[in-house]
Amino acid sequence: MFEIGIQLRLERGAENVFDFSLGNPEVEPPAAVIRALRQVVEENRPHSHGYMPNAGYLEVRAELARRLAESTGLPFGVEHVIMTSGAAGAINTVLKSILDPGDEVIVLNPYFPEYRFYIENHGGRVVLVETTVEFLPDPDRIAAAVTPRTRAVILNSPNNPTGRLYPAALLRELNAVIRAPLVAISDEPYRSIVYDGVKPPATLALIDRAVVAWSWSKAMAIAGERIGYLAISPRLAEAAALAGACTFSHRILGYINAPAIWQRVVGLDPDATVNVSLYQAKRDRLCGALHAMGYDAPRPEGAFYVFPKTPIPDDIAFIGRLQEEGILAVPGSGFGRSGYMRLSLTVSEAEIERSLPGFDRAMRNARAAG
Ligand code: PLP
Repeated sequence: MFEIGIQLRLERGAENVFDFSLGNPEVEPPAAVIRALRQVVEENRPHSHGYMPNAGYLEVRAELARRLAESTGLPFGVEHVIMTSGAAGAINTVLKSILDPGDEVIVLNPYFPEYRFYIENHGGRVVLVETTVEFLPDPDRIAAAVTPRTRAVILNSPNNPTGRLYPAALLRELNAVIRAPLVAISDEPYRSIVYDGVKPPATLALIDRAVVAWSWSKAMAIAGERIGYLAISPRLAEAAALAGACTFSHRILGYINAPAIWQRVVGLDPDATVNVSLYQAKRDRLCGALHAMGYDAPRPEGAFYVFPKTPIPDDIAFIGRLQEEGILAVPGSGFGRSGYMRLSLTVSEAEIERSLPGFDRAMRNARAAG
């Protein structure tokens, strides 16, 4: 998509290309984050840029553990928190720690396509399980897919690409099927990007065998800084062994430790979050306009993606038609679900406005041809 975007911009002029394909936050980090960064740099503590214990700075992990204990009621300690290079680093670290070659990991379709590579990086096998028609995990289908080789189920709420938020009751049902030796790897980089004042349920409080991959990439709009953490549920009987394995894996995968300065920055104000209402306003404008044109485009509950049905079943052909209008979108088949497309809300409001006639023409053409 990147290269097609460059080519289209050359052909049509940058102002006539509307790139809905990338999940790169386009808002600026919160002022509190920039203040914290200045503070850390000005303090200039000795050895601020050196290696540290592999799991990260003790005081930052202690502060995160304190907050996790408060939000879940569980006895979180520093030993349950490992600073990582984003959620991607966290997921790779867990998979490296738990998989033997040929072990299976359940992935819920549609899914973030990098999961396949993460799993295969460590000799694992992807077992795809379909979600419901509403794109929610189906506990019965998951239970039916478990074999003696299954080691993990990857959950992702709010979800990329569907924007669905798993409700608490569903997490409780999932808890009943994710039993030892399985773990739930809950990938939560979008946890603070939620709309309409909804508070996402605390996965760690509801799923006994949860390991959460958290990241500030989207929450603070600092995706390039690569900072996140792994929270290992103290309820896991093997929590200490898993934490030890993850600490070692994070090192030998070559991350060594999470970025030093950014550990301290996020530690100063871990809850600072971008202005989510900006995404919500764009969600409402885009979904409202698409709906009026005849698209089936449900409003996401969280994350910054809209996942409409394409007006023709061949999503790749429809993406081609949008490209003729200068609109870049990702076909649903890239996420395992053809007949859909993913539109990222990380474009400006002005770009959304200018793109709307193109969406309308593509819909009319599809109808005329159909
Ligand atoms: N998981 C999902 C579902 C994502 O969409 C992304 C990035 O877009 C990641 C993980 C990786 O995030 P991070 O930047 O924290 O590594």
